[in-house]
Amino acid sequence: MISFEGVTKRYPDGTTAVDSLDLVIEDRSFTVFVGPSGCGKTTSMRMINRMIDPTSGTITVDGRDISAVDAVKLRLGIGYVIQSAGLLPHRTVVDNVATVPVLMGRSRKDARREAMDVLERVGLDLSMATRYPAQLSGGQQQRVGVARALAADPPILLMDEPFSAVDPVVREDLQNEMLRLQADLKKTIVFVTHDIDEAIKLGDRIAVFGTGGRLQQYDTPELVLSSPATDFVASFVGRDRGYRGLSFRDADKVDLHPITTSSSEDASSVRLDAGQWVLIVTGDGRPRGWMDVTGLEALRAGQDLDRCTSAGGSLFPPSGDLRQALDAAISSPSGVGVAVDADGAVVGGIDATEVVALLAEQRQSEDRERGRRYFEKP
Ligand code: ADP
Ligand code: MG
Repeated sequence: MISFEGVTKRYPDGTTAVDSLDLVIEDRSFTVFVGPSGCGKTTSMRMINRMIDPTSGTITVDGRDISAVDAVKLRLGIGYVIQSAGLLPHRTVVDNVATVPVLMGRSRKDARREAMDVLERVGLDLSMATRYPAQLSGGQQQRVGVARALAADPPILLMDEPFSAVDPVVREDLQNEMLRLQADLKKTIVFVTHDIDEAIKLGDRIAVFGTGGRLQQYDTPELVLSSPATDFVASFVGRDRGYRGLSFRDADKVDLHPITTSSSEDASSVRLDAGQWVLIVTGDGRPRGWMDVTGLEALRAGQDLDRCTSAGGSLFPPSGDLRQALDAAISSPSGVGVAVDADGAVVGGIDATEVVALLAEQRQSEDRERGRRYFEKP
């Protein structure tokens, strides 16, 4: 466990980088510090490995005040990854990764063998191991940076904007790799980013920092999105927070309505008025496409069935979330979202206006709950 108790950092020029920070980071959690540039994320992170000492307050790791722990010893248990990867340019990839184990007294041979294992773990092609950093792409260098931080198997990993300099596609690969690694390794990870989407994707808990180095909210991604604690958080999380927040909401209470369906064989004999739709289904009940009066007329005139129906967009899967429910409804030509079971067979229809009403209801009850906690005496 890492804890900050009343931690303030003031730089000699008078800048308050971090202001009375209280924060508890649980073991084996993935905690993300997020916020705009200059709000004290890096300073907070660097106080954990004593690259920066607080002006006041206490930081403990596993219950021990780190100001009393030898900084070099402390850092051996804390891996550190930075944006530029920070690799030594005149050492090969494998030797870069082996650096810390060698410092810790491993033989060069053992350290290299272990380094190869870690490189494989982070998804780097092992043919890169004998190259020099400059011969790798940015994304590959970041993988090496992560491997190097993990090489000595430290329980804590600090990552300061590690993926901010790589292009969006590679960044997404690296994020997924990080989630996979964490599921496997269960380190205590503190990750800094200015990108709220990255924070939401990676974090078990998110600490949102604001101007003046003040912590604004420390919560799960779900709560940060659905119930921003301050106006600052609400605006930082963005105007479309409602839409993003949808993925965290249960669609349990969405009603499924009967849908008028027809088999492909009977399609030409259905009866439809203007504005009505029928869902054509396959023999095993899977949706094939929606047909309206115009489609029906074309079908009767001899047109191929597939040209008389519109496939629509997404289907609502079993135990889907509200976002999927809304996607299904608004991407459907008939305006009715199609819910399917695990085998893909149609089980009912979803009305977009009902999804929106349900969302409003869930938000209200969350806001009430939040208000109640706010006014309750501790
Ligand atoms: P972030 O990582 O969130 O961008 P930092 O922790 O790097 O923020 O910086 C927080 C504030 O402290 C900023 O206003 C920054 O300019 C200031 N700052 C950072 N390092 C120093 C320093 N060595 N001396 C003076 N001010 C600094
Ligand atoms: Mg920073």
